[in-house]
Amino acid sequence: MSFMALMVVIVYEARWVYPEIQAYFSQTGNLTGQQLATRSRGYLQGAQQQLLGEQPFEADSIQTIRINLDLAYGLLDVEVYRQNYSCTAPSLQTINALSDRIYRGTVTSVDAASELLEPIDCLTRIEMSQLDLRGMAINAFSESTRRHNQVVTYSSMVIFALGLLFWVMHERQLRRAERATEQTLAWMERAMRDPLTGIGNRSALQQEVMAKEGTSLALILVDIDFFKQYNDSMGHPEGDQLLRCLASLLKDVLGEQATLYRLGGDEFAALLPCQNDSLLGDYCDRLTSGLRGADLQHPAHPDNKGVTLSIGAVRFDAREDAFPLAYSEADKALYRVKSAGRDGYEVSLKG
Ligand code: GH3
Ligand code: MG
Repeated sequence: MSFMALMVVIVYEARWVYPEIQAYFSQTGNLTGQQLATRSRGYLQGAQQQLLGEQPFEADSIQTIRINLDLAYGLLDVEVYRQNYSCTAPSLQTINALSDRIYRGTVTSVDAASELLEPIDCLTRIEMSQLDLRGMAINAFSESTRRHNQVVTYSSMVIFALGLLFWVMHERQLRRAERATEQTLAWMERAMRDPLTGIGNRSALQQEVMAKEGTSLALILVDIDFFKQYNDSMGHPEGDQLLRCLASLLKDVLGEQATLYRLGGDEFAALLPCQNDSLLGDYCDRLTSGLRGADLQHPAHPDNKGVTLSIGAVRFDAREDAFPLAYSEADKALYRVKSAGRDGYEVSLKG
């Protein structure tokens, strides 16, 4: 709002000052008040010189004198002069009467020349006065130009300062919004991660399935056998360590194309592209043999084995509504493995 107002002021000032001054000083075609009086005085002085020149007058000379007087009369016969200078009317009368008397020869040339002194004096005063008025007008214009220039300068400075202020405020707001977005993204990222292992959680798994909609996927659920006993014998921190170790083992065995999730407790999930069930069986084989190769110790395993896993797997076409069924099938398969004595895998064919 204030910007708009200042712009209007500046445009108005810039428009007002310069055309007015230009208009005043570019009146080259028009005569000013002072110039009229100067010319009129010039004609009177011309007539006066002729009156004081050679005698007697020729008819032509009389005619020239009268023309000079008439021209002087015409230039002096200005309404503004009549109103502002009291000597104007008597001077006009003198010039008019003198023209007649010269024509009729009822005045001597010396007397006529001396009678012209009064109108000449009047015109000189008009000239001086007009000159003063012109000076005053110029001063007034200069002063108003200076004032308007000041307004323009100060307005520009205010606009600059306001612009700067708005820019700083805008930048600060932008930084704040960026920080808030970063924080929100970081928070969302954290909310999708399992803090212990650094892999995704159950929400991340669902999101990933939606992101891969339309593709054929394998869902592999993995649960550590007798993890409670492991914790009890080795201690909780060691249990944590086993969870971390298993997360990286799954990654190493299944490769880069697999995404891993901890669903809670000692249960993990892997999601990876899979076109057929035999490939899914290969993945499960790779997992069990990879685990055996790692030779992780489990001092409290009831079957005197190292760490073993129960695995349930299913292949499905990624759709939001298909995922719960696929998950349930993989879970059932996993628990069938548990029921059958653990340390193995089953691929469900109902995905
Ligand atoms: P099963 O062979 O039937 O799977 O037996 P289990 O003992 O592995 O399974 P159960 O669900 O009975 O126990 C899971 C255990 O996992 C119980 C809990 O103490 C442990 N647990 C859950 N979360 C954590 C964790 O973050 N760290 C550790 N160290 N242990 C955990
Ligand atoms: Mg378990």
